[in-house]
Amino acid sequence: MKDLLAKLSKLNDKYSMFTTITADKDAGDSKFLFSAKDGLTSKDMETKCGSRILEGYRPVFDATAIAKMREAGGKLIGKTNMDEFGFGSFSTNSPFGVPKNPYDLERSCGGSSGGAACAASVIEYHVALGVSTGGSVCCPASFCGVYGLVPTYGRVSRYGVIDNGNSLDKVGLLSSCPFQIAKFLPIISGKDPKDPTSCCQPELEIKGKKIKSVAVPENALDGLSKDVRSGFNASLDTLRGMGIDVEMITMPSLKYAIPAYYIIETSEASTNLASYVGMRYGRQDGDLSLKFDDYFNYFRTEYFGDETKRRIILGTYARMAGLRDRYYSKSLRVRLHIISSYKEILKEHDAVLTPTMPFVSPRFDEISNMSPVESYSADRLTVPPNLTGMPHMSVPCGYDGNGMPMGMQIVTDHWQEDRLLTFAKEWGAVFDVRRPEVPL
Ligand code: GLN
Repeated sequence: MKDLLAKLSKLNDKYSMFTTITADKDAGDSKFLFSAKDGLTSKDMETKCGSRILEGYRPVFDATAIAKMREAGGKLIGKTNMDEFGFGSFSTNSPFGVPKNPYDLERSCGGSSGGAACAASVIEYHVALGVSTGGSVCCPASFCGVYGLVPTYGRVSRYGVIDNGNSLDKVGLLSSCPFQIAKFLPIISGKDPKDPTSCCQPELEIKGKKIKSVAVPENALDGLSKDVRSGFNASLDTLRGMGIDVEMITMPSLKYAIPAYYIIETSEASTNLASYVGMRYGRQDGDLSLKFDDYFNYFRTEYFGDETKRRIILGTYARMAGLRDRYYSKSLRVRLHIISSYKEILKEHDAVLTPTMPFVSPRFDEISNMSPVESYSADRLTVPPNLTGMPHMSVPCGYDGNGMPMGMQIVTDHWQEDRLLTFAKEWGAVFDVRRPEVPL
C-alpha cells in the first residue's frame, strides 16, 4: 500500500487534513479504510487533539469508536486535523497547519472537525469519525459539501474522546455518501461499560422510518447570507416536491442557545483542561527545578493557544463561587427550556429544519478579521440541537455563485436516527452533489 501512503501524503500537502497519516502495508487487506479526528485516542499513535501541549502523547488504548471500526475490519488511515481541543468553527485554531477547503483553497473547511470533513469530501466513499460538542460535525460537513451525522448523546461511547464539554461531546460520522453513514452508525453505536453515559435503550433500529413533516423556525432564518437563504428556500421546494409537509413556525428559545452553550461548554472544558500541566500526557520537557506552579504556568503559557486560554478564563470565571448560580446553573435551566421547546414541536412534526450555517465557508482573511463573539455566533444554528442531545444531520443542499457548498440541518427527537438516515438516502437521490476536483 505504498501507493496509498503516497497518495494521502500528496493530498495532505495540498489540504492539510491529516495530522498523522497511518496507512501502512496492511491497509490493502482491510475491508474498508477510515479516518478519525485527532480528538479520539488511538493506541500507540500520536494523538494531539490539535494541541502542542499533547505533542508526543501516545495513548495506550483506542477510543471505543475506533476500536469498533477496527473490529469490523476497518483500517485507520489517518488522524484528522482540528481546532485545538475542538475550540473553533474554522479549524484555524490548529497549530499543525490549517485544513483548506477542497472547493477553494483560500477558504476554511469549517471546524472543529475540519480535517475530517475535508477527507470525507476529497476521498470517495471515505468515512471519517468526527466529534461534535456544539457543531463540529455539521459545520464542516456544510462547508465541505458532505453529509455529517451527530447521533443522540449516549448512542456512541465517549470512551477515548478527549473531553471538551462532557455533557455535550458526541462522536459522529462524515461522508460524501449517506449510505456509508447508515452503514457505519450501527457499527460504532451501543452501550459501553467503559462509558457510563453510553446507552443502548432504545436500540438503534434501521427500519426506514420516514420524515413526513418538518417545522422550519422562521426566526432562525434572520441574518442568513443571500446565497444561503435562496439555497435553503430552493431546498424547501424540493422537500415539498418529495411529499414532505413544510410548516413555518417560530422558536423563540433559539436565541438563548449561544450564551447558554458558551457558559456550559467553557465551564466544563476549563475543568477538563486542568489535567494538562506537563506531567501526565504529551510534553513533559520542562525545567524540573522550578516550583510546581511555575512549572505548570510555563507549560500552559507556552503550549496552549489563545482560544484555549480564552475558554479557560471564561469557564473558570463562570464557575467561581458566588457566580456559579448566576451563570452555570442558569445556563443549565436554559438548556432544559430549549430541550422542552424542541420536544413540544416534535410532538407535531417529525423534524426541525434550518440551514446548517448562516453563510458558506468564509475566506481565511475574513476569518482573521472576526472577533471571538462574531465567530461564536456563527454557531447559532448548530448549537441548539447539540445542547439538547438530539440526533441531527447536515446534508448538502446547494452551491453559491462561486460553487461553494451549503448544507441544511435536520433535527429529530432523541433516538430517532433512523428517520435521519432514511431522509438522507432519499435526499441523496434527488439532490446532485458536485464533488470537488481533486488532483489524484
Ligand atoms: N464551534 C463550537 C465551539 O467552538 C463547537 C465546537 C465543537 O463542536 N467542538 O465551541
